Amino acid sequence: MTQATPIAVDRYRPMHDLLEGFLSLVAPTRCAGCEDLADGASAFCASCTVLLEPLAGHGAVFEYGGPIADAIQRFKYDGRSELGAVLASLMLEHAERWAGEVDAVVPVPLHWRRRRTRGYDQAALLARPLARSLGVPALLRGLRRVRNTPSQVDLPHAERQRNIAGAFAPWRLSRVRRVLLVDDVRTTGATLRAASAALKAGGVAEVQRLVLAARVLTEAT
Ligand SMILES: [Zn+2]
Repeated sequence: MTQATPIAVDRYRPMHDLLEGFLSLVAPTRCAGCEDLADGASAFCASCTVLLEPLAGHGAVFEYGGPIADAIQRFKYDGRSELGAVLASLMLEHAERWAGEVDAVVPVPLHWRRRRTRGYDQAALLARPLARSLGVPALLRGLRRVRNTPSQVDLPHAERQRNIAGAFAPWRLSRVRRVLLVDDVRTTGATLRAASAALKAGGVAEVQRLVLAARVLTEAT
């Protein structure tokens, strides 16, 4: 006599396959770097993956440039907020070294005016999945950007320091002692230093820093 259970389970299989096929037609996995079709669940296609420059240590996952820079550009300036989850997943392995050693994840915040224009705060979209995987809260309002500073990109090094110093203030830190501070890109580190200073002013004792991509400067300019 045949058993009923496997048959009953198999009955759902074609429907499941059909649904999966349909979803892959509607939303095929696109490479975060070049937007070509990617393999299954990977963030980048094979040809972009070989171009990525992993940075060992230094509080950054990749050197800024190539496919990771393209992905970050889309994420920040093309309204592609859904890339946040994919890009955060690339930071997970690095963040896990602080498992049990941080009490909260705090993103480097945008000024509210810029957030309103963009519609979202990219560092917050990275911080949330990282906090979830570390089992700690994401304090999206842990810091506040009190000055809407001009973009850092074109400023010389000394200017950047002056431009960003005092741009952040502690806000809703809930008395956390150890924080993982998260941002998308590090250029000179001036922004992270200013944000760390604000965390310490708010009573945080230890600040770890992690960015998705860091520009590697050949000389201080
Ligand atoms: Zn690609």
